[in-house]
Amino acid sequence: MFTSLFIAFLIADIVVRGWMSLRQIRYVKQHRDQVPAEFSGRIGLSSHQRAADYTHAKIQISLLESCVEAVVLVALTLLGGLQMLDVQAGHWISNDIVRQLVLIGMVLLIVSLVGLPFTLWRKFRLEARFGFNRVTPALFWADTVKAVLLLLVLGVPLAALVLWVMGSTGPAWVWWAWLIWVAFNFLVLWLFPTVIAPLFNKFTPLDNPEVTERILALTRRCGFPLHGLFVMDGSKRSAHGNAYFTGFGKARRIVFFDTLLARLNTDEIEAVLAHELGHFKYKHVFKRMAVSFVLALVFFIVLGWLSQKVWFYTELGVVPQLGRPNDALALILFFLAMPIFTFWVTPLAAWLSRRDEFAADNYAARQCSPDALISALVKLYDDNAATLTPDPLHSAYYDSHPPATIRIQNLKKHAS
Ligand SMILES: [Zn+2]
Repeated sequence: MFTSLFIAFLIADIVVRGWMSLRQIRYVKQHRDQVPAEFSGRIGLSSHQRAADYTHAKIQISLLESCVEAVVLVALTLLGGLQMLDVQAGHWISNDIVRQLVLIGMVLLIVSLVGLPFTLWRKFRLEARFGFNRVTPALFWADTVKAVLLLLVLGVPLAALVLWVMGSTGPAWVWWAWLIWVAFNFLVLWLFPTVIAPLFNKFTPLDNPEVTERILALTRRCGFPLHGLFVMDGSKRSAHGNAYFTGFGKARRIVFFDTLLARLNTDEIEAVLAHELGHFKYKHVFKRMAVSFVLALVFFIVLGWLSQKVWFYTELGVVPQLGRPNDALALILFFLAMPIFTFWVTPLAAWLSRRDEFAADNYAARQCSPDALISALVKLYDDNAATLTPDPLHSAYYDSHPPATIRIQNLKKHAS
């Protein structure tokens, strides 16, 4: 029964994904030869066409990747791949925690190896073709080694701890695992600005008196307690620009990509930052985190229930062995199967995110010049080759930010 449900959801997922992608490709293609009126005079036809081609190329590779991922999912579950790995790990290792950690590691390795060609293709073919990629193969592999080491240092203790509470605290493990997960998130948030991010990038204090003065005035006006203003060498990896704030308490800082500073003038930088401060003012980051913790609890409760049901394993191609913990199997099956069910709430998450983006835009438009934010956005759309003409349905389903024209129209209301 659950097998049929799983297959039905998987097929529906692939069909809807594929249909949505084809819609997006067709829509972008249809509007390829005409820059939307809102952007005429600001974005040239060749830039617009480049954005259309970039969007098309990105969707093609994502579509192919989703199909390959679906095959891997079926191979690991219904076709018995996970069962085979589990039996193998049982032959090698007698310690329950170590055996389960190795099983999780093997699955992660397989999933990563399958994803690797796509990552390589994206960076060294697609991003390179459109002039975005700045990563050399040497830097790519150095990044990969660092990321794997980070995963080992942070992920292995986390997984070991969760497996241990699952095996030794009875039904209460759900709450323990949740507490561990929440604590882990705060740990990463705390370590990120000062320990994790500097492993990959250089951060230098912003050295531009004019911009610094404007930003300090803005943060004072908005009541934002600022403890640092940094520039990150984002140009080391990509031509895409960005700005964000990170950390909490005394470690709270604003980080600009050098690529963003190079491209925008002082008014525009101020406007982009005012948008980010809007997210802070309305506690969007805090609210999102609270929602994610509530969802994590729901997931753990569902997992706690499923892990007790023999059908959850057998219907997904695994025979749990009696007389030893099967917690890693439950975790792996849950995280493999979950995305095909949660795919259907993507539009809700995207809608909530777009609502926050409008709120932040409106806040920025009141704090500084809406025209400056418009011209900053136009430059960013242009530089990032983001399509100005997404398919409305595709955009409503997936996009965390409102479509370009609607966003600009909204800002223009403030300007007049
Ligand atoms: Zn935003």
